[in-house]
Amino acid sequence: VTYRVTISPVAGEGQAGALCAFEDITEQEQMGQIRRDFVANVSHELRTPLTALLGFIETLQGAARDDPAARGRFLGIMAREAERMNRLVRDLLSLSRVESEERVRPTERIDIVALIGMAVTALRPVADAAGVVIEVEGEEGPLVIPADPDQLTQVFHNLIENAVKYGAPGKLVTVSITRQLRDQARLGPSVAIAVTDRGEGIDPIHLPRLTERFYRVDSHRSREKGGTGLGLAIVKHIVNRHRGRFRIDSDLGRGSTFTVVLPEG
Ligand code: ADP
Repeated sequence: VTYRVTISPVAGEGQAGALCAFEDITEQEQMGQIRRDFVANVSHELRTPLTALLGFIETLQGAARDDPAARGRFLGIMAREAERMNRLVRDLLSLSRVESEERVRPTERIDIVALIGMAVTALRPVADAAGVVIEVEGEEGPLVIPADPDQLTQVFHNLIENAVKYGAPGKLVTVSITRQLRDQARLGPSVAIAVTDRGEGIDPIHLPRLTERFYRVDSHRSREKGGTGLGLAIVKHIVNRHRGRFRIDSDLGRGSTFTVVLPEG
């Protein structure tokens, strides 16, 4: 707990004293700290690829100038680093857009089953390359709910892409769509979409922090797989905007299930 203490002198009929005020500023302090950590994280995440790019530019201008093989290899690495910066900036923009719209309830009406079908189709090539099969089960639709289609597409893209990335090759990723009359969290009629992988799972100690920006279980692995560490933070904000629920269950060594519950009206 942090207090701000203000002492001000008070003078009255022949007496002098002081007024001492205590103000609880714990929350302000925490918000300030979160903001400072975020800026430090963003700077660090941008600086890593930038340092690599500057290093390779210097090498290409000097030692590797007349070495076509090295030039080709270095340009390949530079392209990957630049793509990484691009993904990071794209995710930062998404996050800030979603945060600024969080209080505005989406009004468009969309068929959630069709939207999920399209997200799965878009990710099939990535899944094929990783040797993972994606299956969709449950409701056949159309199942119309109020939503922001671009944002929900991003939710399911992030969850299914993670399931493919962190899932086990040769194993299934299942997306199941279920209608429910009443959710445990007292939502009315809603639709639950669960994305399950059969990967290595997540240690329970990480679960509460997984939706924090830049929180990763294994930073090296995430970066290697092109992750920015912002995907689940974006998911959480979009689901909040839709007045939905988001939960993560995981069984270490067996796999994980990420469930989004969205109200039907
Ligand atoms: P990233 O871009 O690193 O994937 P996310 O915000 O999408 O960032 O996820 C945060 C972290 O949660 C990941 O770095 C990874 O450690 C963990 N994670 C996410 N999805 C899964 C999954 N399906 N299985 C295991 N770990 C996961």
